[in-house]
Amino acid sequence: MQYVERVLEQLKEKNPNEPEFHQAATEILNGLRPVIARHPEYERTALLERFVEPERVILFRVPWVDDGGNVHVNKGYRVQFNSAIGPYKGGLRFHPSVNLSIIKFLGLEQILKNSLTGLPIGGGKGGSDFDPKGKSDGEVMRFCQSFMTELCRHIGQDTDVPAGDIGVGGREIGYLFGQYKRIMNEHVGVLTGRGLSYGGSLARTEATGYGLVYMVEEALGCRGDGFAGKRVIVSGSGNVAIYAVEKAQALGAKVVAMYDSNGYVYDKDGIRLDVVKQIKEVERGRIREYAERVKGAEYHEGCKGIWSIPCDIALPCATQNEIDGGSAQLLVKNGVKYVGEGANMPTTLEGISVFQQAGVVFLPAKAANAGGVATSALEMAQSSSRLFWTFEEVDAKLKNIMVNIYHNMDAAAREYGVEGDYVAGANIAGFLKVAEAMMAHGIV
Ligand code: NDP
Repeated sequence: MQYVERVLEQLKEKNPNEPEFHQAATEILNGLRPVIARHPEYERTALLERFVEPERVILFRVPWVDDGGNVHVNKGYRVQFNSAIGPYKGGLRFHPSVNLSIIKFLGLEQILKNSLTGLPIGGGKGGSDFDPKGKSDGEVMRFCQSFMTELCRHIGQDTDVPAGDIGVGGREIGYLFGQYKRIMNEHVGVLTGRGLSYGGSLARTEATGYGLVYMVEEALGCRGDGFAGKRVIVSGSGNVAIYAVEKAQALGAKVVAMYDSNGYVYDKDGIRLDVVKQIKEVERGRIREYAERVKGAEYHEGCKGIWSIPCDIALPCATQNEIDGGSAQLLVKNGVKYVGEGANMPTTLEGISVFQQAGVVFLPAKAANAGGVATSALEMAQSSSRLFWTFEEVDAKLKNIMVNIYHNMDAAAREYGVEGDYVAGANIAGFLKVAEAMMAHGIV
């Protein structure tokens, strides 16, 4: 049996009931085949076996008390996956679906994403099955304090630097940071995505969405095209989605649909982002309210229907496995030319293959959404130097990083004989640096 098959088989055997982790590992290791063929020393040193095994998995209890005095217990996770090229870095997700499989798939992806940014950050991920939706600020605060009371002993500015993800935005990062500082008695850059008044970076809020659009813009530009006049669908209506829409609109695109976990809105005149921001960022409401406020807009219950709307560019920005094979076929049939993944693993393996066979330019998450973590690393650099850059400076660095990632994965795909396959290109470009560092460190 070939090396990649053997490692995947062992991984499934040793980690049963972790389908998301299997899916991510399969996509990554398949993309690495040409590298493995050129580097027999990786098999001799069990490099892939070590690469897919987290350095450390931390599981903990998170007890907290709601406003009515009732006690709840959630699960807390931090997977410190790989520190070969720098301290562990990756977000925290608070969502009822969170389990070890999801945190491990996100952590594995994060290793390569962080490497692609060109910055010195390793891979990690964490979170909880706590659902912030419908909770009061006081309940969210008490949960975050309990979560950090345990997590604080495992993280540090040179060890592991968490950030936000689904369900963890500015409010949660604030509460988490406050508790870290209180227990550890140090005001350091141990979390990113912090508020501007306590060490955050300008442009971090916008970074993932803006970065995604910068990469798609580069892909368009390399083909003599641009965003102007393009019909775009953006799924989700959270942090990544909102700022992807903002930048795409600024570049002249017409975004016609968005969703949250209940349903989608279609606005043939182009989504009014001020209304979405008011509903989602200020009121923490539901996207259905958009159709009640904007004349001519339609609301449809359920998410999947969004992919039946014709568009030139699709930017899935909500969660994993949003686009399956059937949705991908619909998009292709309706003329989609570019897919940029803002969320992590939003397309199933079958969906990816539909896009690639149809010649759609497919920009995978670990490259296309790396702008968030890249700007987090810029936040770390600013924290360490106690110097802060302007919005324009951070934004220019972000754009430069996204353009470089695009060309690096494009070049890696060409060099390894899979031109235009950015899934393989991103995996290869990200992996080579991590592999080189792991080889240099010996068997650890
Ligand atoms: P948010 O919590 O801000 O927003 C998530 C959005 O996706 C919400 O609109 C939410 O709807 C929707 N959503 C969540 N789960 C589902 C589901 N099962 N079905 C349909 N819609 C769903 O998260 P972010 O914007 O931060 O993250 C979105 C994605 O981007 C995630 O995959 C994350 O890992 C990835 N990412 C985020 C980065 C960041 O900097 N924030 C960086 C890199 C990647 P509702 O409001 O109903 O919950």
